[in-house]
This record gives sequence, C-alpha cells and structure tokens, in this order.
Amino acid sequence: MAIVSQPQTAARPEPRVRQDEPRDLKGMLLSGLEQFVLDLGEPRFRAAQIASWVFEKGAASFEEMTNLPKLLRARLHDIARITTLRVVQQSHSRHSPTSKYLLGLDDGQTVETVLIGGVQRNTLCISTQVGCALACRFCASGLAGLSRNMTAGEIVDQVIQVQRRVGDDRTINNVVLMGMGEPLANYDAVLRAVRIINAPWGLGIGARKITISTSGLVPNILRLATEGLQVELSVSLHAADDDTRSFLMPINRRYPLRSLLDACTRYVETTNRLITFEYILLKDVNDGLDDAGRLIALLRDLLCKVNLIPYNPVDGLPFETPDEGRQAAFLRVLQAGRITTTIRRERGRDIDAACGQLRLKESGQRSVVGGR
Ligand code: SAH
Repeated sequence: MAIVSQPQTAARPEPRVRQDEPRDLKGMLLSGLEQFVLDLGEPRFRAAQIASWVFEKGAASFEEMTNLPKLLRARLHDIARITTLRVVQQSHSRHSPTSKYLLGLDDGQTVETVLIGGVQRNTLCISTQVGCALACRFCASGLAGLSRNMTAGEIVDQVIQVQRRVGDDRTINNVVLMGMGEPLANYDAVLRAVRIINAPWGLGIGARKITISTSGLVPNILRLATEGLQVELSVSLHAADDDTRSFLMPINRRYPLRSLLDACTRYVETTNRLITFEYILLKDVNDGLDDAGRLIALLRDLLCKVNLIPYNPVDGLPFETPDEGRQAAFLRVLQAGRITTTIRRERGRDIDAACGQLRLKESGQRSVVGGR
C-alpha cells in the first residue's frame, strides 16, 4: 500500500521497486516530513515533533517518541524507518584530538568518518559514497572503485552518531564533506543531507561551517551555484596544467582546467562566495616553482584562496611528500603572487585518519579501541 505519493516512481512504475518500501525519516526535509504526516491524516505540527526526535534527540525508534499518539507510532513503525549507523570500530590518535570511526550501514557496507579536534572547534569529516569512482592516483578511497551512493539519511547520521559518542562537551561545529566519495556525484542525496545538517529543525550547523569538496564536476558546480546555499566550496585542483592534472585526476579529461575554472568563475559571480582550491603537494610531480607560477596565472582573477596539503603517504602508491623547505618555497611564491594561501597541518596520521586514507586498512589490526 503506497500511502505516500512518490512522483518520481509513480510516473514510470518499476515492477521490481517496492512502492511500500519504508521511508527513511532521517533523509527527509521538514517539508517532506510535513507532506508525509499530512498524507497520514495527521496535523502538520507532527512533522516538527518527529524532526526533533530524529535530529535533535537522535531517536533510533518510534517507541521513544512519547509525545506522538500510540496509534501514529504504530503506523510509523510499519511504513517508516530511521537509518541508524553502527559504530563498528573506533580509533583515537595518540598525538592529536583526532578520532576515526568505522560506521556500518544496513547492507553491511562500511564508511569512515573522522573527528578532528581543534582549539575552539570540532570538525567532522564525513563520507558521501561507499568508495569512489574517480580513481585519483594519490587517493586511497578510489582504489577499490565505487560500491554505491550513500543515502541522505546515512550521510546525516554520521554527524548524529559521532556527536552521541563524544557527548555535549565536544560539540561538532564544522562539517566537511571530504571523506570517502565525490559529493557532487551523489548530488541529490548530498544536497538534502547538507540542508538537514544546516537547518534549525535539523542539526543546526551554520552553512558557513559546512564545506563541500569536489574534484571538479563542472555541471554540478554550476548547479550548486543556483541552490542559494551559503556553504563553503572546495575544489581539489592539485595541478596547474592539464597534462599533470589528467595524470593525477582522470576526471580532468572530461572537465579540463579551462572548463573547471570557467565554472568556478561563474560560481563566484553567482554566489559572491570565495572558493578554496585544494592543492596536494607531491614531490617532483606538482611542487615545482614553475607550477606555483602557473597556479598564480590560473587563479589571479578569481575570488579564491589556496590550501596546500602535504601529501599523506598511502601504502602502495608511488608518491612522496616534499620536504618542508620545498613546501615553504611553494607557499612563498603563491603569497608573493598575491594568492591567499595556507598549508594544512596534518593530524591523525598515526590512525590513517588523514585525507584520502579512509577505508584502506579497515580490516587490518590497528591501535583500535573496540566499538562501545
Ligand atoms: N572527492 C572530493 C572529496 C574527497 S577527497 C574531492 O576530490 O575533493 C578530500 C580531499 O583529500 C581532496 O582534496 C583530495 O584530493 C584529498 N586527498 C586525497 N588523497 C590524499 C592524500 N593521499 N594526501 C593528501 N590529500 C589527499
């Protein structure tokens, strides 16, 4: 029995898709929840009550929702669900307030989420896909390819589960979509998740404290520009010429630098927001001073900043990290070229919590504290 109308499937019925699949309340916007309760013949305010249980209180079952009528709870039990990830493993860095969580999804897949503590902020790095299709050469996440997209509820629940673990004295106030996967390749679920994470009825994290990172999917950068969101956009650039970038990131063959930078220019013009370009420093691949010069020429006219990331070694990959002198020289050239530039300090290397290392060693024996 299809109680909730699903226009996208109703238009073209798919015999093998179940119409009465329980709806995941954790992946729904307030407007969707409202429609959902109205379709059940309930008053609209039930939606805000449910949102408060699901997002604010992190309820995992309908039985907990004590201000809802018993009959409604029973109906919800039959037709809806609340995605809840299991903490399969957690490891804590000995040198920094960094923790890595391996989270189990309902179908047995796992994703990783990393909490990075700072002086006044706690940043959670979340995944958007199980694996990744893009196969960037320096990145561990793409080594095994893409298993599947994560749902909006799964993406959101990473924040809810880690916040529950760390308690109120460590409030997650920054969320970066820089874990496993390419966020803009899972556009609809990611955008819904971002809106839920941001909304006052959801997790209430300010839009400017949410960063979407992309390898440069041009059409979806342009689409993102029209969403009216105040989120931060990071673009993984990693090279200042097409040959090097296509070697490092196969996606560059589809969307070469010129088209990517045109899209970035349009994004800045439409949103009035700056873009952060991520640039991994790889010894003898892209860390030359001539590379820095080309980078200046590329970015000179754009409202942007550059974040240099010393490469985090990944087992089995041939790259090396340039020494600090070389990193500093690269930085100085960009700064002299009037490009606002920072270098990312790395944390959590001892637990492989660094960028692009997620999931690589999940089955190995680590300095792991078992899931509580
Ligand atoms: N697919 C998205 C988001 C995930 S990667 C993107 O490409 O932006 C998040 C960041 O980590 C990207 O800038 C990515 O290029 C970087 N990264 C991946 N592997 C890395 C490694 N071994 N060392 C340092 N940074 C890495």
